[in-house]
Amino acid sequence: MTTPADAEVGRARALLSGARRLLVFTGAGVSAESGVPTFRGAGGMWNAMRAEELATPEAFARDPRLVWEWYGWRRELVARCTPNAAHDAIARHAAAHAGTTVVTQNVDGLHQRAAQAAGDPRGTASVVALHGTLFGVRCARWPACSTRAPHDAPVDATDRATLPHCDACGALLRPDVVWFGEALDPADLDAAFDAAQHADACLVVGTSALVQPAASVAATAARAGAPLVEVNAEATPLSSLAAVALRGRAAELVPALLDP
Ligand code: NAD
Repeated sequence: MTTPADAEVGRARALLSGARRLLVFTGAGVSAESGVPTFRGAGGMWNAMRAEELATPEAFARDPRLVWEWYGWRRELVARCTPNAAHDAIARHAAAHAGTTVVTQNVDGLHQRAAQAAGDPRGTASVVALHGTLFGVRCARWPACSTRAPHDAPVDATDRATLPHCDACGALLRPDVVWFGEALDPADLDAAFDAAQHADACLVVGTSALVQPAASVAATAARAGAPLVEVNAEATPLSSLAAVALRGRAAELVPALLDP
């Protein structure tokens, strides 16, 4: 991977530092250097299965044990990871600049952990997690049954009977994440698109920009006039909208772009 020229990094930094309302939009690539595998690209497979085969309501209905086994593996993996220099730089910037909104597609909680470490007065509320969290559950009958809670205890996926069940209605509990084909939380979508409409600049980090409607958040900011700075290991559908597209690693580039 080549390193972007200092002039390009300087131009991106100038665009971002002038923004009173900054939107930071991230995907799995921002956590790659923390050791969290992305879905696409090297290391993106689990037991030779693609995420699209497991992260769906149909997969859970068909084989909840298999889906919970995969989520158990992801939870254990993420619990061992820590925020990297990119999460930290974003969190420090957001803590010091209340006009910054962080919108992520990630379910790993690393932005939220970095926000707490940076002492953001908004706490974890400074992060809009469009696709939910690995460390929560809700009833499989949601929204008919409203059970929803934090949950980070290990899940015994030996068989269906050992999986977690809803105290209120007895149905299975499922991970509190948004699966392929499911609708996003309207409040999260509103917060994300509102930030996009009103952003003075937008920093996009580590997303393939293929998962909708999340990918439209950054495109909306660009169409509303915000200069877009993209940090990604490779080109994406957003690259053509970017004022500056930086090819490289998030943990290396993002700290060079944001004021502490
Ligand atoms: P993706 O896997 O589709 O794409 C990852 C992107 O990150 C790619 O464009 C890749 O080039 C880039 N990348 C990889 N390493 C990088 C690095 N070190 N620095 C900068 N860029 C790097 O991820 P996505 O766009 O977020 O969409 C996939 C979906 O997968 C999302 O809905 C998300 O919820 C889910 N997911 C989340 C996690 C997580 O929470 N960490 C991990 C995997 C997948």
